[in-house]
Amino acid sequence: MPADPTFAGLGTTIFEVVSRLARTHDAVNLGQGFPDDPGPQDVRQVAAEAALEGSNQYPPMLGLPTLRQAVAAHDRRFYGLALDWETEVVVTTGATEALAACLLALIEPGDEVVLFQPLYDSYVPMVRRAGGVPRFVTLKPPDWRLDRSALEAVVGPQTRLILLNTPLNPAAKVFGAEELDLIEEIARCRNAVVICDEVYEHIVFDGQVHQPLMARPAMRDRCLRIGSAGKVFSLTGWKVGYVMGNPALLAPVIKAHQFLVFTVPPNLQAAVAYGLGKEDAYFAGLASGLQVKRDRFAAALAGSGLRPLPCAGTYFLNADISETRISCGDVAFCERAVAEAGVAAIPVSAFYEEAAATHLVRFCFAKDDAVLDEAAVRLARWLG
Ligand code: PMP
Ligand code: GLN
Repeated sequence: MPADPTFAGLGTTIFEVVSRLARTHDAVNLGQGFPDDPGPQDVRQVAAEAALEGSNQYPPMLGLPTLRQAVAAHDRRFYGLALDWETEVVVTTGATEALAACLLALIEPGDEVVLFQPLYDSYVPMVRRAGGVPRFVTLKPPDWRLDRSALEAVVGPQTRLILLNTPLNPAAKVFGAEELDLIEEIARCRNAVVICDEVYEHIVFDGQVHQPLMARPAMRDRCLRIGSAGKVFSLTGWKVGYVMGNPALLAPVIKAHQFLVFTVPPNLQAAVAYGLGKEDAYFAGLASGLQVKRDRFAAALAGSGLRPLPCAGTYFLNADISETRISCGDVAFCERAVAEAGVAAIPVSAFYEEAAATHLVRFCFAKDDAVLDEAAVRLARWLG
């Protein structure tokens, strides 16, 4: 049977595996990252009305003008970025397609791509399928700091791309200004492009503000910035994303997009265009509401032996399992937790290609309070 070895050799994505296990065991699912919040009523209303009253035929390949304008206006409003909506914005089927299009379009066989571990699970297969050679920088808990020597050790004449995810899933880390300075310095020195996966841009806590690398003048034309309406509006099933970048960088990405999906459902685009114009309080409330949940869940874990790590952004709280009464690695811990405690979580080692940390599990806290409380009670009973 013909098959590409990159894909033939892959397992099923950990998110699907854990969600299936959660269903099998009727467990509280804090694995896969999706919120219980149904998303803003008005945004869903626009989608419903657009499906009934608007066109349901192929929208323009680059995305509805209203959405591309809204994305450009959003990036000006929050980051001071001046994007030309006609040439610098393309709408994609979620950030997943955005990432695939960027990697397929920009990598030539043998190009090296710098990746920070732990990382989102689509990155490495897509880099490899595009012919790229991944070069890993491993960030270490609990602060996951980016170290100059670790970055310098993996860059060289073949470095073509750096793939940066901030806020970082699963580490819940927000890259600081000094770390971004370092990435900027290396990217400029190596003439590399930075693909910035910023899907959690509005899920940053404790008064911090998301700072896109692309908003730095010297990086404006060296970055492709990726966003996802799924995360901005708690509508992960919609799979509406966008890529922003200078026309020369974006042009090949658009060519990849035209044959990956070509276009994205028009009613969802119309609704996201509306939503991106929502008042500041909406965006602030998204982060503050999730921050309260983070703190509620972290506090509820006290007494279980699970030690929460710092969480500066994203939907995710990681906990150190090494002081619990269960002595095993993160994979076995999660297998037992779903079956014995009835709580599904993701083993953090799933987010590594090599040298994985095996003492951490990731919980999604973007859930109803009662769900979080029930999960914590179950974990405490199991581990107590
Ligand atoms: N990047 C990261 C870091 C993610 O966590 C996710 C998952 N939500 C994605 C990309 C994919 O986003 P989307 O659902 O918009 O395809
Ligand atoms: N981004 C989500 C997570 O990290 C899952 C996305 C998916 O299931 N593909 O849990």
